[in-house]
Amino acid sequence: MKPDDEGQTSLVESGCLITWFEVVDPFVARTRDDEPIHDDYSNLYFEGTGRMRAHAGELARRPGCIPAESQALTGGDSWAKPLPPAIVRCEVCLAAYPVVQILEPFSS
Ligand SMILES: [Zn+2]
Repeated sequence: MKPDDEGQTSLVESGCLITWFEVVDPFVARTRDDEPIHDDYSNLYFEGTGRMRAHAGELARRPGCIPAESQALTGGDSWAKPLPPAIVRCEVCLAAYPVVQILEPFSS
């Protein structure tokens, strides 16, 4: 799937394009005995990494390249704003709306 391709450049330049975060691997709290969490948290454990992928979109419009079943959220930050190193940008969105990226030393 491709993101919307109307007026790409003007969107980036005007700052209307914001970052959407797709939750790729949800971070979930569970209990070992499927009971409520104990007072001392002894039965609590976590699954997932909370890994996210960044997409370019508009505030009121979820990018089409985020799978329908995935959770997605946005804080309204500009797509051009640098991201934490742990969050990768969607290649489809990046190709459609290029931004200057500071590459980490270990990136290929
Ligand atoms: Zn995308």
